[in-house]
Amino acid sequence: MNKGILIVISGPSGAGKGTICKEVLKRDPSLCLSVSATTRKPRSGEKEGVNYYFLDKAEFEEMIKNDQFLEWAEVYGNYYGTPKSYVEEKLKEGREVILEIDIQGAMKAREKFPDGVFIFIVPPSMDELEKRIKGRATETDEEIKLRFSKAFSELKYITKYDYIVVNDAVSEAAQKVLAIITAEKCKVERN
Ligand code: 5GP
Repeated sequence: MNKGILIVISGPSGAGKGTICKEVLKRDPSLCLSVSATTRKPRSGEKEGVNYYFLDKAEFEEMIKNDQFLEWAEVYGNYYGTPKSYVEEKLKEGREVILEIDIQGAMKAREKFPDGVFIFIVPPSMDELEKRIKGRATETDEEIKLRFSKAFSELKYITKYDYIVVNDAVSEAAQKVLAIITAEKCKVERN
């Protein structure tokens, strides 16, 4: 049996990665989504094991020490990481696995999975990005400023990715991601 494909959906904060991933998974429930671990506090409505595994710093550092992450990064003062075991297990079963992670993490995942499919999600404009970051209203003014300036500087990483998807409308962006996955599954070198 062929191994599954690792699909990394990444891009600046506010680009809409999370919303696109949700839509992609709704349309193709055979895809697996990796649930990350984080030291960030849960936002209202977020559930343990669904949105994230919420850990304290010591627990996270223990997992780093035990080499339990496929990649991890410090984002806005908190740790975020992809637990290795779930991803490895699903890929071995021939399933496609989606990671929704930041750019630093994507660059680390690329080193371990050069055959992975790396998709960069961009907002339609910087004005729209600013609106989306502000619209979330879960962050303080300081955090909003930090996220915006980081997002701006991160756009230069586009060239490290295999595909770029502009998130103008979620439905179309999700359709493009699904088309990329289908094309990758049909590639001669994977078959
Ligand atoms: P948020 O706090 O808004 O849920 O996520 C902040 C950022 O961390 C987002 O860009 C998100 O994609 C990224 N992120 C979530 N999980 C992971 C992960 O496992 N690894 C890395 N490197 N980044 C992650």
